[in-house]
Amino acid sequence: MFLPGLFFCSKEEDTTEKQENTNNFCSISLSGGKDSTAMFLLMLEKDMPIDCVLYADTTMEFPEMEAHIAKLDDLLYRERGIHITTLRHPRGFEWLMFDVPQQQKRAIDRRIAAGQPLTGYGWPGFKVRWCTGQLKAHLLDGEIDRLKKERSALHYIGIAVDEAERCNKDPQNRYPLVEWGITEAQALQICYDRGFDFGGLYEIYHRASCWCCPLQRIDELRKLRTHHPELWARLRAMDNRAREQFGPGPLGQFKQNWSVERLEERFAKEDAAQ
Ligand code: SF4
Repeated sequence: MFLPGLFFCSKEEDTTEKQENTNNFCSISLSGGKDSTAMFLLMLEKDMPIDCVLYADTTMEFPEMEAHIAKLDDLLYRERGIHITTLRHPRGFEWLMFDVPQQQKRAIDRRIAAGQPLTGYGWPGFKVRWCTGQLKAHLLDGEIDRLKKERSALHYIGIAVDEAERCNKDPQNRYPLVEWGITEAQALQICYDRGFDFGGLYEIYHRASCWCCPLQRIDELRKLRTHHPELWARLRAMDNRAREQFGPGPLGQFKQNWSVERLEERFAKEDAAQ
């Protein structure tokens, strides 16, 4: 055992799991967030087989998240002699947002009719969330499907019991946190108890995904400005470029009714009023 901590299932259940797992290739999806990190730590601790750990880097991760992933990778290498497999779009978020050439005739015609540039997807929005597809789902799903087909892989996904409705019925998927009855709050505590504090990200933010996400709450953006001023400066530069390239329509709109510059003015006024 590598670290002291809680156990969430009996020895008998452990043995059954191990028997099932030793016959299969076992892959894990690691987002780097508290739930998948807790699952990963407990699987190591319970000596469950792990053949492959997949992580999709959106290229817009907090530096603290990058450090957290490196720390998990060190642990994985020490414990099991393998490294995390990082999947990354070859050109990254900003290239897709500003520079990817439009390929489909319909999209090109639409852009020309609207007087829009023929490159870049613009800011992602609730309706067109291109980033989750291009930077996460397509990369991970392709690799997971390949492992399931070619290696009969069991695939482990870190969904906490409070979100059990997100589990699907794929017989090759496993949801250990749901099986062990572990909530999101417990998952975070499991990480903290084992010395994984995400560089304090969860002390500040509700979420630990892309710092530039336009879908995050305004309150989270206010915290970004305070706690990560260098990332806030990058976000302002990205949004200025987006407004210049795409204009006031949805592609150039960071949030409905809010550009990052207008948020900057609002937050600065709030600071001055305090
Ligand atoms: S966190 Fe936001 S920006 Fe990042 S992939 Fe998800 S929706 Fe896109």
